Amino acid sequence: MTDSLENWRRTHYSNEVKKELKGEKVLLMGWIHEMRDLGGIIFVLLRDRDGIIQITVPSKKVSPELFEEIKKLKKEAVIAVKGDVQESPKAPNGVEIIPEEIKLLNESELPLPLDTTGNTHAEIDTRLDSRFLDLRKFDVSAIFKIKSRIFHSIRKFLNERGYIEINTPKLVASATEGGTELFPITYFEREAFLGQSPQLYKQMMMASGFDKVFEIAPIFRAEEHDTLRHLNEATSIDLETAFTDHEDSMKILEELIHRAIQDVADECKEELETLGVDLKVPEIPFPRVDYDEVVEIVNSKGVLMRYGEDLSRAAEKVMGEVMDGYYFITGWPTAIKPFYVMPGFENPEKSCAFDLMYRDLEISSGAMRIHSYDLLVQQMKEKGLNPASFERYLQAFKYGMPPHSGWGVGAERLTMSVIGAKNIRETVLFPRDRRRLTP
Ligand code: ATP
Ligand code: MG
Repeated sequence: MTDSLENWRRTHYSNEVKKELKGEKVLLMGWIHEMRDLGGIIFVLLRDRDGIIQITVPSKKVSPELFEEIKKLKKEAVIAVKGDVQESPKAPNGVEIIPEEIKLLNESELPLPLDTTGNTHAEIDTRLDSRFLDLRKFDVSAIFKIKSRIFHSIRKFLNERGYIEINTPKLVASATEGGTELFPITYFEREAFLGQSPQLYKQMMMASGFDKVFEIAPIFRAEEHDTLRHLNEATSIDLETAFTDHEDSMKILEELIHRAIQDVADECKEELETLGVDLKVPEIPFPRVDYDEVVEIVNSKGVLMRYGEDLSRAAEKVMGEVMDGYYFITGWPTAIKPFYVMPGFENPEKSCAFDLMYRDLEISSGAMRIHSYDLLVQQMKEKGLNPASFERYLQAFKYGMPPHSGWGVGAERLTMSVIGAKNIRETVLFPRDRRRLTP
């Protein structure tokens, strides 16, 4: 089973084998999804990344050696098959392969820790323990094909708009917002932290003259609570643009989300069908709801929300019932937003911050940022932070910092909104939560 692959190269994926290839020779590679041995005829279902194809082995049409060899194959073994394409109305895709040669590339132990046909229900924890097997199910792999398409679409869109993709450090000396929720680590003889957000770095890039930057990278948050929408390691899509305000940033965000969903709708039809998702491309502009209005709505539905409070989970749920789809919450009180958020120009009590929501789920937070050094230092002090510990960040505001704005989108939350997932863990290959650090 350690033979070379010489003369064994895949010619097609299973879903590419169509009736038009009738009579042609093909070579497929994949896993044994199911075996049906009816005595004189064996049906092998070969599964690869993109589908399932039937290999039909009638004892009369193949050599006795090949028949015996195939008879011995076990579920989830890895094989390569060379054979002829035949029409077969009863088989998936209307075609089957009559094998000429089979190569066992690797065996699989039985019993499997997880059923790969999806016929038996498994709890998410069991599935995550054997994630590689879980991913052999099409309704699981579809999520990651869609997530990949979203990233691809976002990168394409931002490149078209002249954004530069950057990479900022994830090993950092101090907290972004001075808050908790940080993972401390040992950095040689010092203490350091895993980055919770590229916020300060992307702002420093505004002073570099790059103008338009984005980053897609992990963020680490030591959230202790166990929820269906928080991870301890998530992927953040961060963007920052010089010479713009929050209105510009909301506009690019809704355009980007519109485009990503349009691309998924156009290019992931099969995956959406597998997931049973009837994806509607949202219209833009998304509705804007002022924070004051949110307070009114939430209270009117019998959930207490005091002015100046962040949305509780109950408040988010109320909003999710009132607002269907994507919407912005604007006009947040300056007091509950981070120090770098620009206070409103007419009323400094209300900030230039916004959140993008999908029903009851926060997808993104963004804002116009403060670019004045003095105001920034003042805001830091008001929030109880020590400007001295932000020296290198503050320096960027002394020597020509343009006005700027931006946002951060949680890639997993965005994926949840697209496919309608209830649990964020469905959208991460190997989720990290309070209880889970392996695999
Ligand atoms: P929440 O209030 O829902 O915990 P947040 O306001 O703390 O989120 P931000 O700091 O605004 O989050 O981060 C920007 C975006 O990053 C969020 O809107 C969300 O999409 C995503 N995000 C933040 N924290 C997490 C997390 N723990 N797990 C998954 N995604 C996250
Ligand atoms: Mg937020």
